[in-house]
Amino acid sequence: MSNRFCDKCGKEAQHKEVMKQKPSKYGKSRKEQFKAFLDGFFSGSASSLPGGGSLEVTDRYLVCTRCGKHTLENHGLEFQ
Ligand SMILES: [Zn+2]
Repeated sequence: MSNRFCDKCGKEAQHKEVMKQKPSKYGKSRKEQFKAFLDGFFSGSASSLPGGGSLEVTDRYLVCTRCGKHTLENHGLEFQ
């Protein structure tokens, strides 16, 4: 949890971090999921996260605990 300025609340509010998987270009069927897996495997993206999503397909959001506003927060590259 961190204190951030919320546009919607117009003041500082507690925010929590949420990781969301980006919509996949693949379908939901097992066959499509398998294709997605193979694609990721052969393109060398071995950086899988415990949740099953790789870094490339995961968005980081800050969610305001006052109003529930989601703010995309993918600017954390300086920590890597
Ligand atoms: Zn808010």
